Amino acid sequence: MAKILIVEDNALNIKLFCDLLAAHGHEPQAVTDSRLALDSARTFDPDLVITDIQLPHVSGLELIRMLRADAQLGEVPIMAVTAYSAQGDEERIRAAGAQSYVSKPISVVKFVAAVQELLPAEAGKDGGSTPGQEPSPRT
Ligand code: MN
Repeated sequence: MAKILIVEDNALNIKLFCDLLAAHGHEPQAVTDSRLALDSARTFDPDLVITDIQLPHVSGLELIRMLRADAQLGEVPIMAVTAYSAQGDEERIRAAGAQSYVSKPISVVKFVAAVQELLPAEAGKDGGSTPGQEPSPRT
């Protein structure tokens, strides 16, 4: 079980990400306003942050830089999710400090695999499979 903070302004994506993460035994928390994301992260103390890039007010790239610069959260893995992958986007996202990058519309399999990859071995366990094994069918 891992605590995963989701920063996303789209309600359907929040529902999808939360459902997927909960189905894999994780504890998701969503924040829709990126201006509140840093405070939420400090309180929630997540094992992983998943952030949209196209966010109003504070962009995902800015948020990633803020997390990286934060004394408490500087080491937390970050996975970026973005709808527009223009040339150079992945480089910019990784340069800002995110470890991983998934484009929308997300592939469920890729999304879950990217999440598990960023979690410590213990937190990544969901009881159904261990990292490195073939994914087992889920209902
Ligand atoms: Mn968005």
